[in-house]
Amino acid sequence: MIDVGINLTNSRFEKDRAEVVARAIEAGVEQLVVIGTDVDESRHAAQLCSLWPEICVSTAGVHPHDAKTVTDLSLPEIRDLAALPQVRAIGECGLDFNRDFSPRPQQEAVFEAQLALAAELNMPVYMHCRDAFERFFAILAPWRSKLPGALLHCFTGTRAELEACLSLDLHIGITGWVCDERRGTELRELVRHIPANRLMVETDAPYLLPRDLRPKPKSSRNEPCYLPHIARVIAECRDEAPQSLLPQLTHTSRAFFML
Ligand SMILES: [Zn+2]
Repeated sequence: MIDVGINLTNSRFEKDRAEVVARAIEAGVEQLVVIGTDVDESRHAAQLCSLWPEICVSTAGVHPHDAKTVTDLSLPEIRDLAALPQVRAIGECGLDFNRDFSPRPQQEAVFEAQLALAAELNMPVYMHCRDAFERFFAILAPWRSKLPGALLHCFTGTRAELEACLSLDLHIGITGWVCDERRGTELRELVRHIPANRLMVETDAPYLLPRDLRPKPKSSRNEPCYLPHIARVIAECRDEAPQSLLPQLTHTSRAFFML
């Protein structure tokens, strides 16, 4: 299995990163996609990949929360990082109108600049969208045909939004949100409608610890070793056997990130 979204640069992994990676491997997670969320984090993510070259690849980009930190130098630095062999996608980029940590016009400009960069470099994009679907779709649609791949990670939208994403031939990342009996109800139904060749599974660790883990972990920190649990819940929602679904998801992830 492949965790297509882990924030391994996060300070909550500072003390025991090697153990976290080892536990993931032990749990059957073969590879990790380490997310870059701004220039420094993207550089850090690429550095971590060189510690575990067989296991980790990364992304390079600027998260909408950090759009306000972008200077004239940021995009050239992302471009340089993107030339490294371990960097497989541009992102995490997109829009977040839920928390509005950066002004919306700036989020939109920084998102579009990264779509243009990905198109120029012929690389896939790794995207985030929260409470901003209409603008997200309007900005992405004209670029879509110029991008070799486009993943909307941590999808938590509606059925109509899912259909819109599939109409643009997006890949869809599903996290442990699907394991939440209350917040995840709609998502549990929606995952049935994602074709296996467009579906990927991710932890978004250290965030989004699956709520239904038993026994409950002592720490609220999510880890890639919980990925198989999330994948089994997705299989259950789709009335599919994990042993038939999981290899398909791995294949989809490998093809997207060229693993
Ligand atoms: Zn995100």
